Amino acid sequence: MPLPDSLASLPKRADELRQLLIKWCNQNSGSDHPAGLAAMLEILYVDFARLPGARTERVALVGTTTKALRIKVRPTAPLQIFISGHFDTVYGADHPFQKCEQLSPDILRGPGTSDMKGGLIVMLAALQAFEKTPHAANIGYEILLGPDEETGSQDTTPLLEEAARRHRFALVFEPARANGDLVKSRKGTGIFTLICHGRAAHAGRAVAAGRNAILALCEVLPQVAALGHDRALPGLMVNVGAIKGGGAANIVPDFAEAVINARVTNPGDDIVFLKRLHEICAPLHAREGYRVEIGGGFNRTPKIESPFEVALFGNWQRCGREFSLQLDWQHVGGGSDGNILAAAGLPNLDGLGCVGDNLHSPEEFCHLPSLTQRAQVAALFLHRVAAGEIALPLRP
Ligand SMILES: [Zn+2]
Repeated sequence: MPLPDSLASLPKRADELRQLLIKWCNQNSGSDHPAGLAAMLEILYVDFARLPGARTERVALVGTTTKALRIKVRPTAPLQIFISGHFDTVYGADHPFQKCEQLSPDILRGPGTSDMKGGLIVMLAALQAFEKTPHAANIGYEILLGPDEETGSQDTTPLLEEAARRHRFALVFEPARANGDLVKSRKGTGIFTLICHGRAAHAGRAVAAGRNAILALCEVLPQVAALGHDRALPGLMVNVGAIKGGGAANIVPDFAEAVINARVTNPGDDIVFLKRLHEICAPLHAREGYRVEIGGGFNRTPKIESPFEVALFGNWQRCGREFSLQLDWQHVGGGSDGNILAAAGLPNLDGLGCVGDNLHSPEEFCHLPSLTQRAQVAALFLHRVAAGEIALPLRP
């Protein structure tokens, strides 16, 4: 069957979409920068309101002044699809990486170019093309763009869980892998703090009375890092990401804190990890003059591909072939809102955004031709679903 015109002509929008991406990325929207997030939300509000029939609203979140953006199109159509994204980035207002730079005709480096303002471009372009296809009226969809994905989506999670109950499946426009692969499964992620309390003392007069919290914590941390090689936790990744403690050089420090990122592959490994963490800290906690507090927890459970998702992916691959793309998918270490949606029972395809690499670093870039290519695939998939050419499995 011939491609609808709006899909075939998408590559003609390449330069316009590149300029839109630069505009979005040059607006700082670090997760911890409320003014930047508010400005970004207003930009997206205007650009997404251009979708025909869109009802756009700023949604207040419990626990923060920052808002999410929700866009609904045809909420009474027989089939409802959820579309997920975020507009925060990992680069705060004082980070040196603030502006886009064109490195070559195909490569744009810049903050959020692929994670995931590039994905939002793919999303918007795909939906605009889909809206001009003949069976679009058969599908309604809800887009939710959150402001806190990079810090674990704590405040957006209730909205995601609520949306999971109302939709048949979800599309998540997080970046594809550098080789173009989509995301098959994701590790579960957690952030933990280990706080060691000791006892302060004069470093010259009464050093024996002191209990050095920094040294004690430093005994424990290598054992925590070694959990990454624990046979009972295959695929576990542990990063001791930050440490602080102490004060003046002439005082035995009574405080030290480490922040740890953990990523688990299998459901249930989160509980095993936490148990191991407590076991490692127990001897120090029991030592005279010391006390250990373990804080934090897992914010996303592992996402394992379901049969529904395998079926969706097969259809996505077939759509890719129409544009000479051989799409594959793979297991990745990073979590996303796809984990939260899957945990809430909503099957989802993830990694549908642009192709790029070096995420979360000042070398982050987007492969520009992938913007229109991935939008074409997504639009064709939606068109085929709307036309009844893709048989959707029943929800488990
Ligand atoms: Zn992301």
